[in-house]
Amino acid sequence: MIWNLITIGGGAAGFFGAITHAEMGGGSTLILERTSQVLGKVKISGGGRCNVTHDCQEPKAFSAHYPRGEKALIGPLHRWGATETIAWFEAHGVALKTEADGRMFPVTNDSQTIMDCLQDAADDAQVEVRRRCEVTAIRLDSGVFTFVLSDGEVLRARNVLLATGGTRAVSGAKLAESLGHALVPPVPSLFTFKVPDPRLKDLAGVSVDRVDCAIEGTRLKASGPLLVTHWGMSGPGILRLSAWGARELAEKDYQFTMQVDWLPEKGAEAVLRRCRETWGKRQLPVRTPFTEVPIRLWVRLLERDGVSEGQLWSQLTRDQLKALVEQLHQATFEVRGKSMNKDEFVTCGGVDVREIDLKTMESRRCPGLFFAGEIMNVDGITGGFNFQNAWTSGYHAGMTMAHRKTQF
Ligand SMILES: Cc1cc2nc3c(=O)[nH]c(=O)nc-3n(C[C@H](O)[C@H](O)[C@H](O)COP(=O)(O)OP(=O)(O)OC[C@H]3O[C@@H](n4cnc5c(N)ncnc54)[C@H](O)[C@@H]3O)c2cc1C
Repeated sequence: MIWNLITIGGGAAGFFGAITHAEMGGGSTLILERTSQVLGKVKISGGGRCNVTHDCQEPKAFSAHYPRGEKALIGPLHRWGATETIAWFEAHGVALKTEADGRMFPVTNDSQTIMDCLQDAADDAQVEVRRRCEVTAIRLDSGVFTFVLSDGEVLRARNVLLATGGTRAVSGAKLAESLGHALVPPVPSLFTFKVPDPRLKDLAGVSVDRVDCAIEGTRLKASGPLLVTHWGMSGPGILRLSAWGARELAEKDYQFTMQVDWLPEKGAEAVLRRCRETWGKRQLPVRTPFTEVPIRLWVRLLERDGVSEGQLWSQLTRDQLKALVEQLHQATFEVRGKSMNKDEFVTCGGVDVREIDLKTMESRRCPGLFFAGEIMNVDGITGGFNFQNAWTSGYHAGMTMAHRKTQF
């Protein structure tokens, strides 16, 4: 038998591409998944809730959330973006809700809802799914692809959708290379920073709603919430910085100096001077003068600047005040390594998008070969952007293959 489409990889992108192909009349469709479980990342995504997409209907604004792929995705998102994704899930029985920060989840708050929806849609469209089937080699002979599985079985198809996920796992990368593609080397994105600094000791769990961070000697900057962890710093602001700086920070072997402005929207000096005048008899460590800076962090900054436990505001010296202003607006931290973010991480790198026709997701090197999802050198920041890449690219690939079939 020659399949019309074999999709390699049973993740979000592979499923969406295969379902689209089959629903649009593309004919026989098979998904091959090397593990015993399909949609494994969907299951664990978004802390078990699956952040499906982001509430941003404007393609250009949406694509600004991709450190890799920003320009490449504008066109594809115009034709299939968040609006179409939301409508698709609605039409397949899944209502999504939007949280205050724009992230969209199933109303059930359960990623199983998305898994069930994709599996049901695949069943309804008669997509066949085979688990524990790893594709180890692929070649194209006279317009037909031949697939070799790890158990030696050989399959054949007219089209192939390569949706094997991030290329840190070499299996999919090798298949893409064997069909003539160059890969941008993979490095992790969306990680947290290890910061062995006494100012942060025992502060795990303390968070600041908005900080500005910048990495010295680079143009990397980001704003957002910061969370102190047991090993250093996390939170959306840090994750954003790690995503935009994924390659540059890898080149630095994750050893760099970071500057943090804990009060980007306030001038600390005027407030401190006012407190010195009006709170003269109060002790400095008892109460934070900034609602933005939690008391435990405030006390650590005071300790760093040599303010003693019982020191009064009236005793705050000019040098101490100056040092505090610096601590609040330009605190420097030595970052000494990274930790993978348990909520979400992706690969920066993959198949070079210049080798892909982004209208169709077809390879420019090998006709009949299509790409979708994280295997491409496209990755977003947290917030539902990585799944949207999977839905968008999967849709275009599936639709193109189906249209070609129906035109014959
Ligand atoms: C913990 C975590 C949480 C996340 N949460 C979110 C979130 O809430 N929102 C969001 O937008 N993004 C999230 N992401 C990112 C998102 O999950 C990925 O970007 C997305 O799953 C990529 O989909 P994909 O189909 O391209 O790849 P994958 O989901 O990685 O699927 C690829 C599949 O291909 C299979 N495969 C690989 N090689 C072969 C082979 N040779 N033969 C057969 N099968 C093969 C793999 O086993 C895998 O099942 C999260 C990531 C992680 C790690």
